[in-house]
Amino acid sequence: MHIRLLPVILFASLAASAQTAPITLSVDLTDAPRKILHSTETIPVQPGPLTLVYPKWIPGEHAPDGPIDNQAGFIITSPDGARIKWERDPVNMFAYHLTVPPGVTQLNIKMDFLATAAATGFSAGASTSANLAMLSWNELLVYPPVQNVADIMVSPSIKIPADWKFGTALEPTGSTNSGVTSFKTVTLEQLIDSPVLAGRWFVEIPLAPEISPKHYLDLAGDGPEDIALSNEHIDEFSKLIHETGALYQSRHYGSYHFLVTLSDQVAHFGLEHHQSSDDRVTEKTFTDDNEFIYNGLLLPHEFTHSWNGKYRRPAGLATGNYQDPMQDNLLWVYEGLTEYLGDVLATRSGIWNNTIYRDRLATIAGYLNDVRPGRTWRDLQDTATDAPILYFVSGPYDNWRRNTDFYDEGELLWLEIDSTIRSKTNDKKSLNDFVAAFEGLGGNTPPKVVPYTFDDIVAGLNAVVPNDWAGFLRQRLDSNELHAPEVAGINALSGYKLTYTAKSNYWSQLSESEDSTMDARWSLGFTVNTAGAVGDVIMDSVAWKAGLAPGFQIVAINGRAFTTPLLHAAIQSAEGSGPPIELIVENTGYYKTLKLDYHDGEKYPQLERVPNTHDRLDDILEPMTK
Ligand SMILES: [Zn+2]
Repeated sequence: MHIRLLPVILFASLAASAQTAPITLSVDLTDAPRKILHSTETIPVQPGPLTLVYPKWIPGEHAPDGPIDNQAGFIITSPDGARIKWERDPVNMFAYHLTVPPGVTQLNIKMDFLATAAATGFSAGASTSANLAMLSWNELLVYPPVQNVADIMVSPSIKIPADWKFGTALEPTGSTNSGVTSFKTVTLEQLIDSPVLAGRWFVEIPLAPEISPKHYLDLAGDGPEDIALSNEHIDEFSKLIHETGALYQSRHYGSYHFLVTLSDQVAHFGLEHHQSSDDRVTEKTFTDDNEFIYNGLLLPHEFTHSWNGKYRRPAGLATGNYQDPMQDNLLWVYEGLTEYLGDVLATRSGIWNNTIYRDRLATIAGYLNDVRPGRTWRDLQDTATDAPILYFVSGPYDNWRRNTDFYDEGELLWLEIDSTIRSKTNDKKSLNDFVAAFEGLGGNTPPKVVPYTFDDIVAGLNAVVPNDWAGFLRQRLDSNELHAPEVAGINALSGYKLTYTAKSNYWSQLSESEDSTMDARWSLGFTVNTAGAVGDVIMDSVAWKAGLAPGFQIVAINGRAFTTPLLHAAIQSAEGSGPPIELIVENTGYYKTLKLDYHDGEKYPQLERVPNTHDRLDDILEPMTK
C-alpha cells in the first residue's frame, strides 16, 4: 500500500503575489553583548488601513510563544520621517493597526529586541553573551497578515561586531560593507527558518566533505578552547552524515549547518530547521567526555528533524503562517520518532556506544513504567495534544501531571514498533524500511513540507508489514494503565527486559552528576538536589505516604546534616529490617520529622539480557554504513 499524500506545500515557491518589492530587514547585532538587538525593516504598502502582525506560533516550538514581551522601540515612520501611530488589537495582542497616509508606499519600521531572558526556555531564552549571539529573525520583524508566508519575499542583512564571524543556511550575496553582510532574497518562511549564529570564538568545520549536499559544523563558544573539538568527534559527526543518508535515503536541503552554541550563558535546548539547527549546549560539551555523552543526543535529534518534522510534518503543524494555531496531536511522531531515531543514530555514529544507549533506555523505561502514575488520568495522546501548555510547566509533581512525555514514551513506542516489525518479518524488515519510504518520499528535494495524517502513518507501517497498526497505536496512545504499555512489548521482543538493581546504571549516574541531583524515585520515591531541595515526590510512594512534598528542604537524615552520600548510605543500611529512615524537613519555615518505612534497598532500572533470545537492540544499533 502506498502512503496517501496531502497536497504538497512548496517551501520555496515564488507564488504570484501582489507584493512588488521585497521587504528589507537589517538586524544589528553589535549591541548583542549588552543584550539588545536592533532591526530596521522596510515594507512596501498601499495607502489606507493596514494591519501588521508579530510572529506568534513558532515552528518547532509548537506553541504560541513568540517573544513579544521583549519587544521595545517599535516605531513606524513614512520615508519622509513622519511618525505613523499604531494601535494594538485589543483581542490579538500580536497585531497592530495603523493607517498608511495618502501617497506613502513604504513603511520604515524600527524595533529592538531585549535579549535579557533567563537561560531557560527555548529560542527566546538567553541567546547572547559578551562574545556570541544567536539571531532568531522572528524576534525582530512584523509582516502583513497573509495566508502563506512563502508569498512574502525578504532581503535580509546583518551587522556584527568587527572581530566576529557567523554561520547560517542563508546565502550571502557576496557584498560586505562596513560590517554589514547582505543575504540573497528569500521567502519569509525561509528567513525565519534560517537563524544566524555569530561569535568572536567561531569556527566552521566541513563534515563528510565527500558527500553532497554539503554539511557544516558551525561553532561559537564562550572561549577559544571550547570550539577546539577532537578529530574523533569530527569523525563521529561525519559518520552521522553518512548514517542519515543510509537511513533516510534522501536529503531535503541545499546544504546543512549545525549552528552549535557552546556556552553556559544561554538557554540549553535545540530547535530544528530545514537546512540548519539551533543547538545550544553547555560550554564544555565538545571538550569534556561526560558532557559530550550527556548532550550526545541533541545534534542527531535536531538533524533528524530536517526529515521528520520539517519535510514530513503533521498536517496540523503545517500552517501557512505564524498566526494560525498549530495542532500538536501528532507530536508523538514528530518528536517521539525523532527522539528514537536520534538516539539510534547517536549510537550508530559512535557518539554513544551500545551500553550507553541501553542504559539511557533503561532509565527512560524505568521512570515511564514504574514512577509515572499520571498516566492513570492523562494518556500519552493528551501529552501531545496539550503540548502548547505542557512545554511551559515546571517540575514539582511532574509524575502526577505528566509532561511532554511524547518524547520519551514516544521513543519507547517507536522502539516497540521497530521490534514488532523485526519480529513479524523474521528480522528481514525493520523501521528503517518505514522511514526510508516515509521520510525519503520523492528522493532528494529542496526544502519543502509534505504533510501527513494518522492514517498516513498507519498506511506507511502496513506497507512494511500488514498489522492492525491503528489498533496497536491507539491502544498505547489512549492507555490509562499505571504502567507504560510499550514496556511489555519491548520486554518480549527486544532481547532485553526491564529489571531493577541496587546499582545505578551509567546514564542514571551521569544524569545525577550533571543535574546535581539524587534520583531515589524507584526506592523512597523522590528526587532531591545536592543541597537537599526536594524536586519531585512520586504519588503513593513511601516518601509521599510519609508526608514529603516537592519544595521541602531535607535538613537531616537520621539526625545528621543532609548530603546525598548520606542518603544513599541510609537507604542501604535500612535494607532488610531495622528502624525507618528519619528525615528532618523544613517546609516554608516550619520543621518536622518524617519517618520513611522502607527496607528494599537502592533501586535503579537496568535492561537485562533475556537468555536465548535474538538481541534485536544490537541489530537496531548496528551502523548501516561501514
Ligand atoms: Zn525535537
